[in-house]
Order: sequence, then structure tokens, then C-alpha cells
Amino acid sequence: MSTATSGLAGCGGETESDAGVRLALDLLDAGVLVLSPDLRVTYANARWTQWLGAPLAAGTSLVSLVENVAHDRLALLAATLGDGQPRMLHLWLRPARADTAARHLSCTARRTAAGGLVLEAHIGDDEGTSLHDVARRLAEVSDMAEVLHTLCEIAALRCGGTAAAVLRTTGHLSEVVAASGDLLPARGRCFELDGSMVQEAFEQNAIVSETNYNNADRPLQRVVPELALGPVLVAPLHAHGETLGVLAVARAIGAPTFLAPDAERLRLLADHAALAVHKSLLLQQAQSADRAKGRFLATMSHELRTPLTALAGYNELLADQVMGPMTEPQLDVVERMRSVTMHLSAMIEEILAFTSLEEGRELVRPSEFLAEDLVRAAAAVIEPLALQKGLKLEVVLPRASVRMSSDIDKARQVLVNLLGNAVKFTDAGTVTLRLSRSGHSVRADITDTGIGIPADELPRLFRPFAQVDTGLTRRHGGTGLGLYISRRLATMLGGHIEVSSVVGKGSTFSVVLPVSTG
Ligand code: ADP
Repeated sequence: MSTATSGLAGCGGETESDAGVRLALDLLDAGVLVLSPDLRVTYANARWTQWLGAPLAAGTSLVSLVENVAHDRLALLAATLGDGQPRMLHLWLRPARADTAARHLSCTARRTAAGGLVLEAHIGDDEGTSLHDVARRLAEVSDMAEVLHTLCEIAALRCGGTAAAVLRTTGHLSEVVAASGDLLPARGRCFELDGSMVQEAFEQNAIVSETNYNNADRPLQRVVPELALGPVLVAPLHAHGETLGVLAVARAIGAPTFLAPDAERLRLLADHAALAVHKSLLLQQAQSADRAKGRFLATMSHELRTPLTALAGYNELLADQVMGPMTEPQLDVVERMRSVTMHLSAMIEEILAFTSLEEGRELVRPSEFLAEDLVRAAAAVIEPLALQKGLKLEVVLPRASVRMSSDIDKARQVLVNLLGNAVKFTDAGTVTLRLSRSGHSVRADITDTGIGIPADELPRLFRPFAQVDTGLTRRHGGTGLGLYISRRLATMLGGHIEVSSVVGKGSTFSVVLPVSTG
């Protein structure tokens, strides 16, 4: 605790015993605030100043320090001033800096011999909850940069620092990946691990401290000379046997050094935070693997589409017997080749549609059309497949025409996907497409008499690459992307898809679209 923060120091004529008392009070883990009878600060110990996040001038009124000195609390303090009986009260300490949070304190107010008050505040019990809060706050954010930024904020607050940073290492270099306060100029900068506090923290597997960083000639200081740091504490971040980096807190030049309780707080925080950092690192890796998978799928699909188009062309030449007459068995083989090529093309188109949606390249292009035209167009695409399987495809239209304004290509794609599935997963019976209007929505119910879907599988059907794990689905093939794409398209058009199904009886997928998008 610097003398500037102490009201005792401001009084002048400090005796040796005063200095001793002040030193002892500064070592306490409790916050001590001494108030004059008119509730003005005459002294604040190190812990209290640290909670506040800035030096506290003598004469500051209590009302300006805490958020809720409501009348009932003032009455409690007045009562203690009057009868000398100690009283408990709860206060919220207002943060001195915009980047720190308010802190809840449980205080005991006692009357002093001089007729003022001394407030003794504990956050002991609160620490456990705060660590819980830390874990919760960190778990709430999944974005790596946000996790690290939140961690810096919390570290500075909890350890009474004015700056904090998270550093990671690769090979012989260390990088400041997140920073707050006075450490901000170092964000994104790399420095030699050799001779750094990071290296010491790793080697000793413990918290290391520096009382005056600016005079310590450390590698980071050499790389970022404009850094102005006083005391610094650095704690290693370990999770699942892996060293993820370090968490550092710092105070301004000339500020009091960090004490053992600060180091203990940093250690506890580093232990809690390491798991959250580990989790978001894993998430980051998974997301970049996902992006790599997306790029791979898109490139491969493009590469496969070109030769497939050529194959389909040669196939047609053979089928049309342009290259010469063919026997019946030969034509039969050519027809099978055509069907397989078409199947492959459809799968590739689906993957391309998926990657284009994922990359946000799809835009809604509305036009005006009749809903029955949309429905007929979709049914026409699927009719040959239904006929091939000996299924009846029924289209039921409302009596009155429905004029819509939407993206007809996307709406048709959704209906074709759902109709295609209905035919694919039905071996006998009927597939019905029923169009109806209710209010400002158009509804298309696609009902089949197929294999049905178990109730517990319904929630995951719309996830990418999801397929009901039965031999039947395997036999029918597919990418598992159709429903995911359909739902995304329907959502883009301002609508949604509903599903109901009974195993062994059949399913109904319903697309509900607004009559007019946007
Ligand atoms: P795909 O058909 O390419 O496998 P979809 O996303 O279109 O992918 O469908 C996902 C899964 O949902 C299918 O594999 C199937 O298990 C199930 N499914 C979809 N529609 C039906 C349906 N009409 N009847 C039974 N199962 C269906």
C-alpha cells in the first residue's frame, strides 16, 4: 500500500507506531476503512484500495465510494455511531475504473475511540462464489478472443492490478495474445522466451513476481519499450497436463508490490481459467478443422462435377445411339450408368449447396408467383422417381389460388428435397403433397406411407450429415444434408419446417412459408 492511498499518511506527523499499525493493516486480507463522524475517509488499507482499483484520497465521502448507501444503511451506521454497538451491513463497492466490476462486501461497522467508524470488510466467503462466477462467465463465451479478454479483466480486478495479459508460447517465442490496461501496447507482440518471466514461471511451475518490471530488462520490455509497468505477477496456465501459457497481472510504476494473498488469488484464478482456455482452444481447433473440411468439400465437389458432366454427356450419346446401334442388354447397362451418374451429381450438388450456405453466399431473390405453380414444378421433378418405384404421387391444391412473393428456386429446392426423401423412404403406397393457406402463410404437407422415423431421432434429423442409423437408411444412401439444407433455406425465406412421424406407418414433413418474404 503506497502512502498516497492512506489517510493516516495524509495527516502528517506520522509516528513510528502509526507506521507499524499501517503496515500491519496493509497485510490484512480484510479491507479496513476508517471514517470520520461525518462518514469521510481518513484511512483505507491496501486490501480496500486494491478492491477499489485506484488510490483513495483522504476526505472522500463514503457515499461516493459505494453504490447503495441507502437510508437504511446510513441509519445502521448512524446507530453504531450513536450506541457504539458493532453492526453488519452489505455494500457494493463502486469500481474506480470503467473496466472493472462492482464488488459486493460484507462489512462490520465499529465505533472508534475518536468517535468515527471503522468498516471491516470481508470478501472471504464471496471468493468461492466469485470463482464460480469466473467459471460461469468464461463458460458463457465461446469465442477464444472474448474468453481471453474476459480473463484479463477478471485477473486485474481480483488481484488488484491495473493491467493483465494472457501469453502463449511457440518454440522459443512467447506472444501476448490478450491484454488489458497498461499491457495493451504489448498485445500481439512476440518476444524471446529466454530470460522472460514466462520462462521462469514454466521452469519453476509456480507464480513468479517482479517488483519493478520497468527496471528488470526483460525481453518483452525490449520489444515494447513504451510499456510502463511496476509490480508484475505471472502464473502458469495448466490444463490436462498441458501448459497453455501464462496469466500475468501488473500494476503501475510506483504502485505497491503484490502480496502473498494476491499471488494466491492469481493461482486460484489461473487454475480455474486454464480449463476454460483449454476448452476454447479445442473449440477454435475444431472450428478451423470445420472450415478446412468445408473448403475441402467445396473443392472436391467442384473437381468431381466437371468429369461427371462429361460422363453424363457420353452416356446420353450412347443412349441416343448416336455412336451406332445398341442391343437391349447394352441399353440396359447404359441406363444403369445414367442413373448412377445422376445420383452422384445430385449428391455433389447437395454438398455444393451446403458449402455455399455455410459460407453465406446464398441470397434471397424474391419474385411473384402462384403457390400451385411452385408445388407442381416440384412434383414434376420427383414424379419419374415415384413412378419408377411404383408409388402414387398425389398433389392436392386449395380451391383458391395463392399468390406468393418469395425466392421460388429456394422454395422449390425445399419441396424437392422433402418429396425426394418421401419417395426414397417409402417402398409402397402414396406420397401426398397438400397445399393450403392459413392467414399470411402457405403450408405444404408432404405425407408418405414409408418407414417412418423413431421419435427420439426427430430432433437430430436437421443436423448436417445426420441420418437415422438403420440398415434401411444405409441402403437408400444419401449425404444426410438434405434436411439441414431444407431447414436453412426455409428459415432464410422466413418460414420453418415441421415433422411428425410414426415408425412403420409414415411421415409428414410440413413447410410453412410466409405469403410474402420481408
Ligand atoms: P439423406 O436423405 O441424404 O440421408 P436428409 O437430411 O434428407 O439426408 O435426411 C436425413 C435422414 O432423415 C435420412 O437419412 C433418413 O434417415 C431420415 N428421413 C428423412 N426423410 C424421411 C422420410 N420421409 N421417411 C423416413 N426417414 C426420413
